[in-house]
Amino acid sequence: MNEELNYQDVIAKIKARFPDGTVRQRGDNGRAYIPNQVYNDRVEQATQSQWNQEFRDVEINVPHRYVKVVARVTIGAHSRDGIGFSEILIDGSGNAKQLSTAVDQAKAEAVREALDTWEIGWQDLAPYYQHEKDWGSNPALKHLLLFAPPGNAELNLQMQEIVDRHCIFTNCGAKLTRDEWELLGTIPNLDRSRMIYCFEHIPPHIKKKVPTDPLEAFLKKKAAR
Ligand SMILES: [Zn+2]
Repeated sequence: MNEELNYQDVIAKIKARFPDGTVRQRGDNGRAYIPNQVYNDRVEQATQSQWNQEFRDVEINVPHRYVKVVARVTIGAHSRDGIGFSEILIDGSGNAKQLSTAVDQAKAEAVREALDTWEIGWQDLAPYYQHEKDWGSNPALKHLLLFAPPGNAELNLQMQEIVDRHCIFTNCGAKLTRDEWELLGTIPNLDRSRMIYCFEHIPPHIKKKVPTDPLEAFLKKKAAR
């Protein structure tokens, strides 16, 4: 390392809030996330490029269709490990396809997991994970919200967009649970900004298109309530 890094300063910079608009929502399930490139750039800036990532293990398991990667990120004298997984897609004759993509995805997740231990992006993501089962609602992490700047109204608004959805079925208007909203997101070609239904009122021809796995998971959770 050429220049002496002040580890505490670097970590403070890494954990700092990102500009408004950094948090994105996944198209498929509406979950909030921060793109990997943003994390990468943040660590580059905070460490003045004095950081290192290495992949200590890459396991490609075609029979069981997964890639597992162990990444180690080093900043100064401190190293953190992260594990990433991705699914291997199989073509009609049972051969793996897009293997390099699966490896890249697992690597990206592993690095993200390692960086996550330094709380990168936590202040930004916490407002989106306030549902009772979500990590951001844990009382021990309330401090992440306390440091929110006054201009946080926009964030809250975005958050409401996820949560405040009402069933458009005649005379229903029920507020969707997050699970219902996420279930809608699994339906192929459904425009979730217009076609908003509570589970009970999803029209039968649309309900048929809900993929099996998310549907079973949804029903299981529902039954557990
Ligand atoms: Zn309804």
